[in-house]
Amino acid sequence: MKRIENYDLSNQNTFRMKVKAALYIEYDNVEELQSLDLKALPQPVFHMGAGSNLLFTKDFPGTILHSNIKFIKYVDMGLDEVLLTVGSGVVFDDLIANVAGNGLWGMENLSLIPGEVGAAAVQNIGAYGVEAKDVISGVVCLDTKDWTKTVFKVGECAYGYRDSRFKHERGRYIITSVLFRVTRKYSPKLDYGGVRAALEGRDLQALTPMDVREAIIGIRNAKLPDPAQIGSAGSFFKNPVISREHFERFATPETPHYDLPDGTVKVPAAWLIDQCGFRGKVLGGAQVYEKQPLVIVNASGSASLEDVLALENQIIAAVQERYEITLHPEVDHI
Ligand SMILES: Cc1cc2nc3c(=O)[nH]c(=O)nc-3n(C[C@H](O)[C@H](O)[C@H](O)COP(=O)(O)OP(=O)(O)OC[C@H]3O[C@@H](n4cnc5c(N)ncnc54)[C@H](O)[C@@H]3O)c2cc1C
Repeated sequence: MKRIENYDLSNQNTFRMKVKAALYIEYDNVEELQSLDLKALPQPVFHMGAGSNLLFTKDFPGTILHSNIKFIKYVDMGLDEVLLTVGSGVVFDDLIANVAGNGLWGMENLSLIPGEVGAAAVQNIGAYGVEAKDVISGVVCLDTKDWTKTVFKVGECAYGYRDSRFKHERGRYIITSVLFRVTRKYSPKLDYGGVRAALEGRDLQALTPMDVREAIIGIRNAKLPDPAQIGSAGSFFKNPVISREHFERFATPETPHYDLPDGTVKVPAAWLIDQCGFRGKVLGGAQVYEKQPLVIVNASGSASLEDVLALENQIIAAVQERYEITLHPEVDHI
């Protein structure tokens, strides 16, 4: 177990905010985690993954916990379905490389999303028509109240768009491993975000999960900032859902949107931000990413928190004024 006081988090948040935590504890297994007396640690206690959905708004006065539980274990190699259990500290994209490399379908569309397995189950990460909940079978947690082990089946996790029970019961459960269900059965999902176009000319019936993974990586690299090169936390805002009547007040036939089954309409936040003229806008060291206006980047590498928050607030105010829509951040402000 690693235990470091006054820990520098600059390299452990993809926004690259220069912040410190009073105490950082990284545990290697469930027993080490259970040995901790959370109440005796500097408060508050916050569990992080790779810090790719976090915006630290100041030095963290309490304790940061981090999982270094790293294993990928195939537990049931059925004829079609394959079950595996994976430690919460595994990098999610390493897991996909492993699973797709074994010819198994299900996760490939989530390729290159930064972060770790535990957080993927909290966030219900999603991309190109697939969400984590589509491949999760169960989530193994410790209840911080008494360190008892709890296993939630996927149906008990209250998954929604970037949402889960773990977000609402914040701090209560620490995820130690996740059970996934993938399949040998040929089942590519190509109908979102230019995936089919990226595979044009290929024999679709001969595709492997690795082929789709590579196509997705190509698409993402072309439009999203590489966290190794430029700081960001990915999509800064959630896509708002509004009533059809509200949508029709401003929509033209060209307005991008998704009709939801309950009659409401989801509007891409990127489009709203773009319409308000923010694409590429610079504020101090922060910038709205030129290739994808849903992303705020630490363009200078030394953006201050004030820069990021001011840009966030300007975007919220502009979209509110023009469309009467309130954007909500997807990025967790800590
Ligand atoms: C360039 C870029 C692109 C991105 N693209 C996408 C995308 O396409 N789709 C998408 O959905 N997201 C995307 N994201 C957001 C981010 O990758 C996900 O939210 C990811 O799941 C965060 O993982 P993390 O390990 O960094 O978690 P963190 O950001 O460190 O934490 C996220 C949340 O999970 C909680 N948590 C972490 N580990 C545990 C645990 N073991 N037990 C309990 N709670 C835990 C934390 O408390 C926090 O609430 C992107 C981010 C970046 C920087």
